Amino acid sequence: MKINITKTHKSRINETDFENLGFGEVFGDHMFSMEYKNGEWTSPQIVPFGKIDILPSLCSLHYGQVVFEGLKAFYTKKGINIFRPEKYHERLNKSCSRLCIPEIDYETFIEGLEELLKLDRDWVPRKKGYSLYIRPFIFATDNFLGVKISKTYRFMIITSPVGAYYKEGFNPIRLMTSGKYARAVKGGLGAAKTPANYAASLLPAEEAKKEGFSQVLWLDGIEKKYIEESGAMNAFFLIDNELVTPSLESSILEGVTRNTVINLAREWGVDVRERKISIDEVLSASDEGRLKEVFGTGTAAVISPVGEIRHNDTLITINGGKTGAFSQRLFNEITGIHYGEKDDKFGWCHWIK
Ligand SMILES: *Cc1c(COP(=O)(O)O)cnc(C)c1O
Repeated sequence: MKINITKTHKSRINETDFENLGFGEVFGDHMFSMEYKNGEWTSPQIVPFGKIDILPSLCSLHYGQVVFEGLKAFYTKKGINIFRPEKYHERLNKSCSRLCIPEIDYETFIEGLEELLKLDRDWVPRKKGYSLYIRPFIFATDNFLGVKISKTYRFMIITSPVGAYYKEGFNPIRLMTSGKYARAVKGGLGAAKTPANYAASLLPAEEAKKEGFSQVLWLDGIEKKYIEESGAMNAFFLIDNELVTPSLESSILEGVTRNTVINLAREWGVDVRERKISIDEVLSASDEGRLKEVFGTGTAAVISPVGEIRHNDTLITINGGKTGAFSQRLFNEITGIHYGEKDDKFGWCHWIK
């Protein structure tokens, strides 16, 4: 693939405080961009990060035909490590097929990403715990106001150096269920990484915050009984010695971190079950002293321990509101692999020399 590269004349790297990074607030010097027209992906290019030309009639602004991904690259002694790009790419294409967006082949995806990271390698933060967040996304670019599938698209990759996701650090969060709202329903868009799911979650999350909770613990939209996800993370429950995570229904996003956790836990000999788990089961396990740990998983936070859950009038505290040993072990193992300090037995690291 021939990528047309235009380098920036004014790098912003010296204006960036790499010691104090938030999440997704500053962006790398360059971006990758590619167009889909006449039935094929063409004109790959890397240009300075900046404004893009669009008309107000751009169909994706009106009807939301958009998909995205979120993965990370880490600075290590052995070079730059992109964590599990194949898996994120696979999910990007799954989201594409749900949203009627043309898929992108892996070679194109990884070549574009590698070239971008080679050019912006100094944007990968050196500080431990920090990383370069990578945001590939595709949006429909036809200009019309009718509801139909667009014939043209744009695929872009932008990057953002990030610090630790939770400002409080690796401290347990508080979750509450919502009796009123649903994030996604069976047969809907829940299994696709698409902005609509986030739009649906904003108001419930805001209301949860007003009540002093960090996120909503999503229950299925129909019976309001089975646990689906925790905020924009997958949910895990350590009950006795069984690690339970909701089985993938069409309303649940298949997290790459979820898959990483399942693989590691099985390798450690833990009994991992992907099955339905109701909120009532979690509350009774807590009552009986069998609920050991609860945590969310996602690329941004990796592991996010849960200290409290409220469901209707019941509030339970998990592991005394403290980070549990199992959550901590997973966090250490996964971040150890990220930074090339632990054995990459599963071949998850993709190195850029
Ligand atoms: C991205 C995302 C996750 C986490 O997936 P990872 O691949 O682990 O980052 C979970 N739930 C939702 C709704 C998401 O969008």
